[in-house]
Amino acid sequence: MERTLSIIKPNAVIDNNIGNIIKMFEDQGLRIAAAKLTHLSKEKAEGFYIEHKERPFFGELVTFMTSAPVMLMVLEGENAVMKNREIMGATNPAEAAEGTIRKLYAKSIGENAAHGSDSLQSADREVNYFFDKNEVNSRW
Ligand code: ATP
Ligand code: MG
Repeated sequence: MERTLSIIKPNAVIDNNIGNIIKMFEDQGLRIAAAKLTHLSKEKAEGFYIEHKERPFFGELVTFMTSAPVMLMVLEGENAVMKNREIMGATNPAEAAEGTIRKLYAKSIGENAAHGSDSLQSADREVNYFFDKNEVNSRW
């Protein structure tokens, strides 16, 4: 069993696709162990994406992630980190496989509908960055 952090990004929240995306996770056997709808501050978004600080798209990324609410979730299940990445599809929706979240709901490489932790180590950091221990309702 693993835990991973999922974020439904502002474009998908604005487009009313929260339910569609959660259904995809549940249908694939991932469980929602924690969830909150919140509007990120600039500081919180910058800290979350700190690994991308030197990238040319960093400013644009932070502006987008703070432009509207996001849905933060902890997903748990077997192989949750990689399973979440598979359900999301490639970062660039033009390269995302049919039936993936990004193929269905992304607008562009920046406004790409969802985030998922890319390793167990980053999942641990990201879950703790947004959730207190007592907010995570594990079924393990
Ligand atoms: P995420 O971390 O959001 O799950 P990812 O791991 O697939 O996405 P990263 O390389 O970590 O991709 O990039 C983080 C985010 O930065 C992307 O999801 C996207 O929103 C944005 N991004 C990445 N590359 C670009 C780009 N070339 N132009 C604009 N935005 C980009
Ligand atoms: Mg990433």
